[in-house]
Amino acid sequence: MGLYLIIMGVQGAGKGTQAAFIQKTFNIPHVSTGDLFRAMKNRQDELAQRVQNIMNAGQLVPDDVTNEVLKDRLEQPDAQQGVILDGYPRNVAQASWLKDYLAQRGEKLAAVLLLDLDPYTAFKRAFGRVKSTKTGETYNIYTNNEGLTWEFIEHPEHTYPPRLEAKLKATGEILERRRDDEAFSVVKRIDTYLAETMPLVDYFRQQDVLYSIPADQPIDVVSQAVQQVIEKVK
Ligand code: AMP
Repeated sequence: MGLYLIIMGVQGAGKGTQAAFIQKTFNIPHVSTGDLFRAMKNRQDELAQRVQNIMNAGQLVPDDVTNEVLKDRLEQPDAQQGVILDGYPRNVAQASWLKDYLAQRGEKLAAVLLLDLDPYTAFKRAFGRVKSTKTGETYNIYTNNEGLTWEFIEHPEHTYPPRLEAKLKATGEILERRRDDEAFSVVKRIDTYLAETMPLVDYFRQQDVLYSIPADQPIDVVSQAVQQVIEKVK
């Protein structure tokens, strides 16, 4: 049996960080559907363009497209001992597709790790994150802001809301923000999470595979809790 895990949580809960920890500790690949979609960015075909527009608007990619992209990834040789899924499933329809797909292969889910974070903290973590393209260093205007200045600048076409612009005081470098971290996209993602993904919590709880971990704690404390759960279900 492979080790099939899901990590869930609102944007900014630390899913990516903990998934990387699980990948390293348990030697299974971190499969993020968001990363798989972002990797399509340089493709010019119609499907790839459609996916980019949907992502930039903070909406969900249709289930049939998402399931197909995931299936291709799960069939790669490195995914045969299991995976840690991040960003998938986003709704009950995807969860039930996954259940059937794993069952066909004689596999099943070992655990769903829910990184539990309130929506206010989630907003600040996503909206406030900025990165230096020169050094690769990441910051957050609310929580890791030493040496930064920031302001809200008006969009050239005066569209609402204004955009956040952060700079390094020392060099004046304008820090990079992910395009899908603009306020409207973040709000949309959190709303979508609350509306569509929360029912999954009930779904997985009913199947007795849900483990909830408080995510507003230091990274290594969360990692320890994650490791304990996986050791138990493995
Ligand atoms: P993420 O990096 O997980 O926040 O995903 C970025 C974007 O990719 C999302 O806002 C969606 O547009 C799309 N996406 C990622 N995973 C899924 C999924 N399981 N179902 C539908 N859309 C997804």
